[in-house]
Amino acid sequence: MTLKERIENMRHEEEIDSIWNLAFRETVLTKMEKTVPGYAKIKEDFMPLELKYEAQRQRRSLLSKVAKALWANHENWKDVEAKFDRVRKTFKEVISGQKDLGKEVKADWLARIDSVKLMIPGADPEVETGNCFKDESNAYYFRDKNYVTVCAGDFNSEEIEQTLAHEISHALDIGRSRYLYQLHSPVGAGLQDLKERSCGKKRFTCDQWNRTKAQFHDHLKYLLTFEPQLEDFNMCLQDKEVKDKIPDDYLARIAKEDVEATLSDLARRNVFLRIISPELPLPNGKAQKNPLYMNPCGYYLWETQAQPLDEDVSLLLFFTAEYRCSKEPDRGQKFKNAIEIAKQLQTALAKSTIAMEGQFSGRYRLDRDGYSSSPTERFADNLGQMVFAKILNSEQDVRKRRARYLANNAWLCRKPSIQQLFPSEAKVQRSYYVEPHSETNQRQKELLTDEIRESLHCKRDFETNQCEI
Ligand SMILES: [Zn+2]
Repeated sequence: MTLKERIENMRHEEEIDSIWNLAFRETVLTKMEKTVPGYAKIKEDFMPLELKYEAQRQRRSLLSKVAKALWANHENWKDVEAKFDRVRKTFKEVISGQKDLGKEVKADWLARIDSVKLMIPGADPEVETGNCFKDESNAYYFRDKNYVTVCAGDFNSEEIEQTLAHEISHALDIGRSRYLYQLHSPVGAGLQDLKERSCGKKRFTCDQWNRTKAQFHDHLKYLLTFEPQLEDFNMCLQDKEVKDKIPDDYLARIAKEDVEATLSDLARRNVFLRIISPELPLPNGKAQKNPLYMNPCGYYLWETQAQPLDEDVSLLLFFTAEYRCSKEPDRGQKFKNAIEIAKQLQTALAKSTIAMEGQFSGRYRLDRDGYSSSPTERFADNLGQMVFAKILNSEQDVRKRRARYLANNAWLCRKPSIQQLFPSEAKVQRSYYVEPHSETNQRQKELLTDEIRESLHCKRDFETNQCEI
């Protein structure tokens, strides 16, 4: 490309971006003006929160419609759908054929594989996925939503069966197991009930809140009874040896610091005050009804985003309930007490949650301090390759299998890099940050599992340790 062509290219890029952004803003503005006459006259700084949220929801809904219109009937997406079904079917065959899996784990995994969905990139208005609908080259599994998304940059440029097998594997990993355990635990059910009572679906009563509080510490104990599936396999997948036991005072300190950080962030953004104020002042001196009044879910763009297991959500649920039921006559004291009680409950919850995660936690602090290492990415690579090998085996011609393997792995080809010049130093440098995936070169080797090598008829000329289920 010549300099002139490059500049021309840049100009086109900027132009397309600008047309795209303007079209979006124009559509949202027109839609908002239709529902709220005079909307276009309100300055951005003076925009009531309710309208700001509504405009954001409109924007997300519009993007979701565009994403669906772009891809739903596109032949490349149809191909993703067909491959997703195929990978899922093969996954079930692999699980059923596993002799070393217990009956219970097998049944659980089959049901979990059945429940995973595929989502058009950008189609879920509740999730911000950036450029995934456009040109990002990536794929995701969303743990709480239980769906897989393959980004447009991925399925329009390369083979995706290996990627699909990897992402679907995440529906079985220890992170998803933990999430399901928490969700169905007495604490999870209690928080869900508290959310429904606080956000208007059920009636809120202080008797119920006092009962929830009284049972809370007992319910927390249940979290500690979590037993990981295939513990030895997960331990083998960890990328380092971790310390034997996490001391109780360490857990208490991490929980306290985590909650303090969440709390200070919410406080800085005025969220506690917003929740207790029935009205909000407007720039013209008048006041408008506060949509967030005693409704902690109102703080989130979509009510479904107020996931009671999220730290900030539970903290706000505790605060609101306590504030509603407080009999303290002094306003400042009442406010402070509610925050303090919420903080105490949240710290206890955080401590039990971190203890439950234990040596498999993906938290940066625990990893850095040598107490944990998350096995989930290596789990997904390992399991995914068992499925991918079976898919490759359905191809009779070994040369075609190899070509397909490479077409699925092209994204792992290494470009010249400074890390390649200094491999041992790069390894040292890497030990100073937490990255759940193996380093590229290592990952390339790990992906060539026994099953894959057998399928491709190739031998290993390097050392790696393969973990067996
Ligand atoms: Zn992954």
